[in-house]
Amino acid sequence: MATPPVTREPLRELKDYLKFLKDCGYTEIPVQATLSGHSGPGAPPMPMARKSKTAASQRLEEVRKELGDCTRCKLSATRKSIVFGSGNPGADLVFVGEGPGADEDEQGLPFVGRAGKKLTEIIEKGMGLDREKDTYICNIVKCRPPGNRDPEPDEIAACQPFLVKQLLAIRPRVIVALGKPAASTLLGRAVAITKERGAWQEYNGIPLMPTFHPAYLLRFYTVENRRAVHDDMKKVLNLLKK
Ligand code: SF4
Repeated sequence: MATPPVTREPLRELKDYLKFLKDCGYTEIPVQATLSGHSGPGAPPMPMARKSKTAASQRLEEVRKELGDCTRCKLSATRKSIVFGSGNPGADLVFVGEGPGADEDEQGLPFVGRAGKKLTEIIEKGMGLDREKDTYICNIVKCRPPGNRDPEPDEIAACQPFLVKQLLAIRPRVIVALGKPAASTLLGRAVAITKERGAWQEYNGIPLMPTFHPAYLLRFYTVENRRAVHDDMKKVLNLLKK
């Protein structure tokens, strides 16, 4: 009798997802994550990216053109690349981080270093989404602050109009602010991220979820922090599927 073909991919996805849950401190599979939530392999596909990708791409290109070879703030003096953003311009979900690091400056792409790998893991293993197809990722400043220091208020102020225009071009259904600087910039006030993460806010009528930056997760790799981000992303998925 012929042996049926073996499909390895779903099993590998399931194994990755179980490992991810274990990393988040779960000893059992949370029911919501597999039945009504969208996390994990085997979940029904989400109605993502329903907007016109082409129109959003064109709008984004115009923003990029206007930014040009920007020298509007002092970060231009030390950067190698302007890290504008990457992903699907028609995405329903946008992640906003703080600023490029050394790897990002080198490659001209956001979240490609260690923190980027963590973010990809959160998106792909934790949320069951495809980073390139289902999300768009950018930062509040597009050039690397030297030595990875926090961006300064004048730098944020110089770059912010382009973040606003990017978000207007994409028109996502949900924004995730990664860390205090991103949340504070978008909300226009000092956000206490440890207290305020996980609670919905609003940015120009768009639901905004503040959560920990993946670099913070790597620095403080506790079960509580990992579970907090997992729970925040579950809320994001639940809203996106509505
Ligand atoms: S951080 Fe923004 S405003 Fe400053 S130089 Fe770079 S692109 Fe221009």
